[in-house]
Amino acid sequence: MKLWIGIDDTDSPKGMCTTYLAVIAIEELQREGVEVIGFPRLIRLNPTIPFKTRGNGAVSFLIDTPDTELVMEVMDWVVQEYSELSHENTNPGVVFVKNDDEILNALSRFAFKAVRDLISIDEALFLIGRFMIPHLKYKKGRGLIGALASVGLESDDFTYELLAYRKPENFGKKREIVEETFFKADELFYPKIWDTVDWHNKVVVSVPNGLDPVLYGIRGSDFFSINRASEILETEEIHKKMLFITNQSTDMHLIPEEEAKELRNYHSYILSGIVVEEPEVIRGGHVFFRISTKFGMLKCAAFEPTKQFRDVVLKLIKGDVVRVFGSVKKDTLNLEKLEIVNLVRKKEVNPRCPVCGKRMESAGKNQPFRCKRCKTIAKEKEVEEIQRDVEEGFYEVPPCARRHLSKPLIRMDVPKKHVFR
Ligand code: ATP
Repeated sequence: MKLWIGIDDTDSPKGMCTTYLAVIAIEELQREGVEVIGFPRLIRLNPTIPFKTRGNGAVSFLIDTPDTELVMEVMDWVVQEYSELSHENTNPGVVFVKNDDEILNALSRFAFKAVRDLISIDEALFLIGRFMIPHLKYKKGRGLIGALASVGLESDDFTYELLAYRKPENFGKKREIVEETFFKADELFYPKIWDTVDWHNKVVVSVPNGLDPVLYGIRGSDFFSINRASEILETEEIHKKMLFITNQSTDMHLIPEEEAKELRNYHSYILSGIVVEEPEVIRGGHVFFRISTKFGMLKCAAFEPTKQFRDVVLKLIKGDVVRVFGSVKKDTLNLEKLEIVNLVRKKEVNPRCPVCGKRMESAGKNQPFRCKRCKTIAKEKEVEEIQRDVEEGFYEVPPCARRHLSKPLIRMDVPKKHVFR
């Protein structure tokens, strides 16, 4: 029987990673003679969820087995053995879903909601009850939400990530890598791979810093290029590698304004607006400005980690028409991308005195402008060109600040792209 296994919430900031646990599970199942079909899927869910450890990822994979009970036993053993169960915020869940259209259709709707919205554990338990889905629930079992969603998510748009894992004796130690080889890989295989390094900010972004088992992750659209890139990387000894199909780099979390009824915290949007309050930098280097949208006034932010992207944002002035892409938290939209749709290039100013050349003053409402000194009069304001040091088009945060779900501009078929690499 074909069965989808979904798994989530096994790690903590102190260690582990659900993708690694899934790789171990796949190996253990194969050792028991279970057939694993195709690549596992790494599905990123709502990036604003407060319970997440890092990137709100969940994993699923398809197997063929005559023995669901054995499979459940193996998965239970793997979770008990490897997950961070002692951490208060780790609440694993595993689901075993028949490859059945009716169930998968219901899960597909649930999954889409899990990417864009908030879901309660009860909603997950309701689906589990309705379709009598065999499952394993540990502690609060919040992981059942991600587990179901990772099985159900459907999308025409997908990408790959090759994850390389460290030897267990190296977990927690500094990662040994030859940085230049990551830059070389990017030079050779970009744009079929992306977000490997950040040239401008001089950082390798494909290597995490935490206590988790991941050594690096190479993202891309073509697994031949991803594999070739990974072959030239010089690093500490690799324990395991696995290629995942993902919904990363797809913008799937962004709700277009036509589909939104209102703006809510913990949701992500694409919104049109007009700049009504010019950007200002606060201590720490964070930049804020306000736009008016069809839902009212909205504060937008380009935080310090978005680096040179802030320089673009700082060039906006009142009246500029923009489209903003990002997540709303604390009533502020955290920018991932920006489209400058129309720049203000003209402004009205008081006319100059034809005699002395100084700006004339307004003599009051419905009164002409006057030059006090020369006693000249003019009725109309003048229109002056504004020199803008920025152009219309799409701008994005650099790779070092990119969110897993954000679609890099190199993947977007839009004109006037300003790619930060
Ligand atoms: P890692 O990716 O490294 O495994 P993580 O960042 O994915 O860690 P988790 O430990 O999986 O974080 O915690 C996220 C929790 O939030 C999971 O229990 C998951 O089921 C739950 N969750 C995911 N999406 C939603 C959602 N839309 N609404 C409510 N809960 C969610």
